[in-house]
Amino acid sequence: MKLKKMFALLAAVVFAVVALAGCGGSNGSGSKGDKKVLKVGTNADFAPFEFQDKEGKEYQGFDMDLIRAVGEQMGYKVEIENRAFDGLIPALTAKDIDVVISGMSINDERKKKVDFSDPYYDSGLTIVVRKDDDRIKNFEGLKGMTVAVQIGTTSAKEVKKIEGVNVRELNSSADTFLELNAGGVDAVVNDKPVNENYIATSGDGNVKELADRLTSEQYGIAVSKGNTELVKKIDDALKALHENGKYDEIYKKWFKAGK
Ligand code: GLN
Repeated sequence: MKLKKMFALLAAVVFAVVALAGCGGSNGSGSKGDKKVLKVGTNADFAPFEFQDKEGKEYQGFDMDLIRAVGEQMGYKVEIENRAFDGLIPALTAKDIDVVISGMSINDERKKKVDFSDPYYDSGLTIVVRKDDDRIKNFEGLKGMTVAVQIGTTSAKEVKKIEGVNVRELNSSADTFLELNAGGVDAVVNDKPVNENYIATSGDGNVKELADRLTSEQYGIAVSKGNTELVKKIDDALKALHENGKYDEIYKKWFKAGK
Protein backbone atom coordinates (compact mmCIF):
# COMPACT_ATOMS: atom_id res chain seq x y z
CA MET A 1 0.00 0.00 0.00
CA LYS A 2 2.75 2.43 1.02
CA LEU A 3 4.79 1.47 -2.01
CA LYS A 4 1.82 2.06 -4.27
CA LYS A 5 1.36 5.59 -2.88
CA MET A 6 5.02 6.38 -3.37
CA PHE A 7 4.82 5.16 -6.92
CA ALA A 8 1.82 7.37 -7.64
CA LEU A 9 3.65 10.37 -6.20
CA LEU A 10 6.73 9.65 -8.29
CA ALA A 11 4.59 9.34 -11.41
CA ALA A 12 2.94 12.69 -10.63
CA VAL A 13 6.30 14.40 -10.18
CA VAL A 14 7.67 12.97 -13.43
CA PHE A 15 4.51 14.09 -15.24
CA ALA A 16 4.77 17.64 -13.86
CA VAL A 17 8.44 17.96 -14.84
CA VAL A 18 7.76 16.78 -18.39
CA ALA A 19 4.78 19.14 -18.73
CA LEU A 20 6.76 22.14 -17.46
CA ALA A 21 9.66 21.45 -19.78
CA GLY A 22 7.33 22.11 -22.69
CA CYS A 23 6.77 25.74 -21.71
CA GLY A 24 9.60 27.90 -22.99
CA GLY A 25 10.12 31.28 -21.33
CA SER A 26 9.18 34.37 -23.36
CA ASN A 27 8.90 38.07 -22.64
CA GLY A 28 6.39 38.84 -25.31
CA SER A 29 8.71 39.14 -28.28
CA GLY A 30 8.97 36.67 -31.10
CA SER A 31 12.19 35.53 -32.69
CA LYS A 32 13.24 35.26 -36.28
CA GLY A 33 16.38 33.41 -37.19
CA ASP A 34 18.69 33.92 -34.26
CA LYS A 35 17.64 37.53 -33.52
CA LYS A 36 14.61 38.35 -31.40
CA VAL A 37 12.02 40.58 -33.03
CA LEU A 38 10.67 43.74 -31.44
CA LYS A 39 7.27 44.52 -32.94
CA VAL A 40 6.80 48.28 -32.90
CA GLY A 41 3.49 50.08 -33.39
CA THR A 42 3.33 53.70 -34.52
CA ASN A 43 0.98 56.15 -36.22
CA ALA A 44 3.22 57.27 -39.08
CA ASP A 45 1.59 60.63 -39.63
CA PHE A 46 3.39 62.76 -37.10
CA ALA A 47 6.44 64.34 -38.72
CA PRO A 48 9.19 64.85 -37.68
CA PHE A 49 8.69 61.91 -35.29
CA GLU A 50 7.16 59.30 -37.60
CA PHE A 51 6.15 59.47 -41.25
CA GLN A 52 6.59 57.53 -44.45
CA ASP A 53 8.56 58.64 -47.49
CA LYS A 54 6.72 59.56 -50.67
CA GLU A 55 6.52 55.98 -51.91
CA GLY A 56 5.02 55.05 -48.55
CA LYS A 57 7.58 52.39 -47.81
CA GLU A 58 10.28 53.57 -45.46
CA TYR A 59 9.41 54.75 -41.93
CA GLN A 60 11.30 57.92 -41.10
CA GLY A 61 11.63 60.38 -38.25
CA PHE A 62 13.15 60.91 -34.83
CA ASP A 63 11.12 58.15 -33.14
CA MET A 64 11.86 55.70 -35.97
CA ASP A 65 15.62 56.27 -35.78
CA LEU A 66 15.49 56.14 -31.99
CA ILE A 67 13.59 52.84 -31.79
CA ARG A 68 15.89 51.26 -34.40
CA ALA A 69 18.87 52.34 -32.29
CA VAL A 70 17.18 51.06 -29.10
CA GLY A 71 16.45 47.73 -30.81
CA GLU A 72 20.00 47.42 -32.06
CA GLN A 73 21.33 48.20 -28.59
CA MET A 74 19.06 45.49 -27.14
CA GLY A 75 20.08 42.99 -29.83
CA TYR A 76 16.58 42.88 -31.37
CA LYS A 77 15.44 43.12 -34.96
CA VAL A 78 12.92 45.98 -35.19
CA GLU A 79 9.72 45.55 -37.19
CA ILE A 80 7.51 48.63 -37.53
CA GLU A 81 3.73 48.59 -38.08
CA ASN A 82 1.57 51.59 -38.95
CA ARG A 83 -1.68 51.82 -36.99
CA ALA A 84 -4.32 54.39 -36.02
CA PHE A 85 -3.15 56.42 -33.01
CA ASP A 86 -6.15 55.45 -30.90
CA GLY A 87 -5.56 51.77 -31.74
CA LEU A 88 -1.99 51.67 -30.43
CA ILE A 89 -2.71 51.10 -26.73
CA PRO A 90 -5.38 48.44 -27.47
CA ALA A 91 -2.82 46.68 -29.75
CA LEU A 92 -0.32 46.63 -26.88
CA THR A 93 -2.91 45.27 -24.48
CA ALA A 94 -3.84 42.56 -27.00
CA LYS A 95 -0.08 41.81 -27.34
CA ASP A 96 -0.27 42.29 -31.11
CA ILE A 97 2.81 44.49 -30.75
CA ASP A 98 5.59 44.71 -28.16
CA VAL A 99 6.11 48.48 -27.92
CA VAL A 100 4.58 51.78 -29.04
CA ILE A 101 6.66 54.77 -30.07
CA SER A 102 4.47 57.47 -31.54
CA GLY A 103 5.14 60.83 -29.92
CA MET A 104 3.02 59.40 -27.11
CA SER A 105 2.93 61.58 -24.01
CA ILE A 106 3.28 59.89 -20.65
CA ASN A 107 0.22 60.58 -18.48
CA ASP A 108 -1.66 59.01 -15.57
CA GLU A 109 -4.62 57.95 -17.66
CA ARG A 110 -2.40 55.93 -20.02
CA LYS A 111 -0.29 54.61 -17.13
CA LYS A 112 -3.37 52.72 -15.93
CA LYS A 113 -3.29 50.70 -19.16
CA VAL A 114 0.39 50.52 -20.15
CA ASP A 115 3.88 50.98 -18.73
CA PHE A 116 6.27 53.61 -20.06
CA SER A 117 10.02 53.82 -20.50
CA ASP A 118 11.94 56.80 -19.16
CA PRO A 119 10.95 60.00 -21.01
CA TYR A 120 12.87 60.55 -24.24
CA TYR A 121 11.53 63.92 -25.49
CA ASP A 122 9.99 67.08 -23.95
CA SER A 123 6.96 68.49 -25.70
CA GLY A 124 3.81 70.57 -25.22
CA LEU A 125 0.76 71.85 -27.08
CA THR A 126 0.44 74.95 -29.24
CA ILE A 127 -2.19 76.50 -31.52
CA VAL A 128 -1.98 76.95 -35.30
CA VAL A 129 -4.27 79.43 -37.10
CA ARG A 130 -4.47 80.86 -40.62
CA LYS A 131 -1.91 83.59 -41.18
CA ASP A 132 -4.45 86.35 -41.84
CA ASP A 133 -6.54 85.49 -38.78
CA ASP A 134 -5.83 87.58 -35.66
CA ARG A 135 -8.91 86.68 -33.64
CA ILE A 136 -7.24 84.05 -31.46
CA LYS A 137 -4.31 85.11 -29.26
CA ASN A 138 -4.02 82.20 -26.83
CA PHE A 139 -5.79 79.11 -25.44
CA GLU A 140 -8.38 81.27 -23.64
CA GLY A 141 -9.21 82.76 -27.02
CA LEU A 142 -10.36 79.39 -28.36
CA LYS A 143 -13.70 79.96 -26.59
CA GLY A 144 -16.47 80.05 -29.16
CA MET A 145 -14.15 78.75 -31.92
CA THR A 146 -14.14 75.49 -33.85
CA VAL A 147 -10.90 73.63 -33.21
CA ALA A 148 -9.51 70.52 -34.95
CA VAL A 149 -7.55 67.95 -32.96
CA GLN A 150 -6.42 64.41 -33.59
CA ILE A 151 -8.61 61.77 -31.96
CA GLY A 152 -7.23 60.04 -28.86
CA THR A 153 -4.50 62.62 -28.21
CA THR A 154 -3.63 64.89 -25.32
CA SER A 155 -4.71 67.82 -27.57
CA ALA A 156 -8.21 66.37 -27.76
CA LYS A 157 -8.28 65.89 -23.99
CA GLU A 158 -7.00 69.39 -23.16
CA VAL A 159 -9.10 71.34 -25.66
CA LYS A 160 -12.24 69.62 -24.38
CA LYS A 161 -11.48 71.12 -20.94
CA ILE A 162 -11.77 74.67 -22.29
CA GLU A 163 -15.38 75.73 -22.00
CA GLY A 164 -17.28 76.81 -25.10
CA VAL A 165 -14.95 75.26 -27.69
CA ASN A 166 -16.46 73.33 -30.56
CA VAL A 167 -14.02 70.40 -30.84
CA ARG A 168 -13.65 68.52 -34.13
CA GLU A 169 -11.83 65.22 -33.66
CA LEU A 170 -10.16 63.98 -36.83
CA ASN A 171 -8.20 60.82 -37.60
CA SER A 172 -4.75 62.28 -38.19
CA SER A 173 -2.81 65.47 -37.64
CA ALA A 174 -2.56 65.82 -41.44
CA ASP A 175 -6.38 65.91 -41.55
CA THR A 176 -6.48 68.68 -38.94
CA PHE A 177 -4.14 70.88 -41.02
CA LEU A 178 -6.12 70.17 -44.20
CA GLU A 179 -9.28 71.24 -42.44
CA LEU A 180 -7.65 74.46 -41.21
CA ASN A 181 -6.46 75.32 -44.72
CA ALA A 182 -9.88 74.55 -46.15
CA GLY A 183 -11.48 76.96 -43.66
CA GLY A 184 -13.50 74.20 -41.97
CA VAL A 185 -12.05 75.06 -38.53
CA ASP A 186 -10.65 78.20 -36.88
CA ALA A 187 -7.61 76.55 -35.30
CA VAL A 188 -5.62 73.36 -34.85
CA VAL A 189 -4.17 72.29 -31.50
CA ASN A 190 -1.31 69.82 -31.74
CA ASP A 191 2.15 69.06 -30.36
CA LYS A 192 4.53 72.01 -30.70
CA PRO A 193 7.34 70.28 -32.65
CA VAL A 194 4.82 68.81 -35.10
CA ASN A 195 3.16 72.20 -35.64
CA GLU A 196 6.55 73.79 -36.24
CA ASN A 197 7.59 71.05 -38.64
CA TYR A 198 4.34 71.44 -40.58
CA ILE A 199 4.84 75.20 -40.91
CA ALA A 200 8.48 74.74 -41.97
CA THR A 201 7.86 71.98 -44.50
CA SER A 202 4.31 72.02 -45.83
CA GLY A 203 2.44 74.99 -44.43
CA ASP A 204 2.95 76.95 -47.69
CA GLY A 205 3.10 80.14 -45.64
CA ASN A 206 -0.66 80.01 -45.05
CA VAL A 207 -0.62 79.30 -41.33
CA LYS A 208 1.16 80.48 -38.18
CA GLU A 209 1.83 79.13 -34.70
CA LEU A 210 0.84 81.15 -31.62
CA ALA A 211 3.34 81.57 -28.79
CA ASP A 212 1.03 80.33 -26.01
CA ARG A 213 1.95 76.82 -24.86
CA LEU A 214 -0.60 74.82 -22.90
CA THR A 215 1.16 71.83 -21.33
CA SER A 216 4.53 70.32 -20.56
CA GLU A 217 4.48 66.75 -21.80
CA GLN A 218 7.12 64.08 -22.12
CA TYR A 219 7.12 61.30 -24.69
CA GLY A 220 7.77 57.73 -23.60
CA ILE A 221 7.98 54.30 -25.21
CA ALA A 222 4.99 52.23 -24.07
CA VAL A 223 4.92 48.49 -23.37
CA SER A 224 2.10 46.27 -22.14
CA LYS A 225 1.24 46.62 -18.47
CA GLY A 226 3.51 44.66 -16.16
CA ASN A 227 6.27 43.93 -18.69
CA THR A 228 8.95 45.34 -16.39
CA GLU A 229 11.63 43.22 -18.01
CA LEU A 230 11.13 44.93 -21.37
CA VAL A 231 10.91 48.41 -19.79
CA LYS A 232 14.24 47.77 -18.07
CA LYS A 233 15.86 46.67 -21.35
CA ILE A 234 14.55 49.79 -23.12
CA ASP A 235 15.65 52.13 -20.31
CA ASP A 236 19.12 50.56 -20.29
CA ALA A 237 19.33 50.98 -24.06
CA LEU A 238 18.18 54.64 -23.85
CA LYS A 239 20.80 55.30 -21.20
CA ALA A 240 23.51 53.76 -23.37
CA LEU A 241 22.42 55.87 -26.37
CA HIS A 242 22.61 59.03 -24.25
CA GLU A 243 26.08 58.05 -23.10
CA ASN A 244 27.54 57.05 -26.46
CA GLY A 245 26.28 60.15 -28.31
CA LYS A 246 23.83 58.29 -30.55
CA TYR A 247 20.78 60.01 -29.01
CA ASP A 248 22.32 63.46 -29.69
CA GLU A 249 23.19 62.43 -33.22
CA ILE A 250 19.57 61.44 -33.92
CA TYR A 251 18.29 64.57 -32.16
CA LYS A 252 20.46 66.85 -34.29
CA LYS A 253 19.40 65.08 -37.47
CA TRP A 254 15.72 65.91 -36.86
CA PHE A 255 15.92 69.08 -34.74
CA LYS A 256 18.84 70.89 -36.32
CA ALA A 257 19.45 73.25 -33.39
CA GLY A 258 20.28 70.45 -30.95
CA LYS A 259 18.96 70.40 -27.39
N1 GLN B 1 1.67 63.70 -27.80
C1 GLN B 1 0.28 63.57 -28.11
C2 GLN B 1 -0.32 62.45 -27.31
O1 GLN B 1 0.39 61.68 -26.75
C3 GLN B 1 0.03 63.37 -29.60
C4 GLN B 1 0.62 62.10 -30.14
C5 GLN B 1 0.29 61.83 -31.61
O2 GLN B 1 -0.64 62.39 -32.18
N2 GLN B 1 1.02 60.97 -32.23
O3 GLN B 1 -1.51 62.33 -27.25
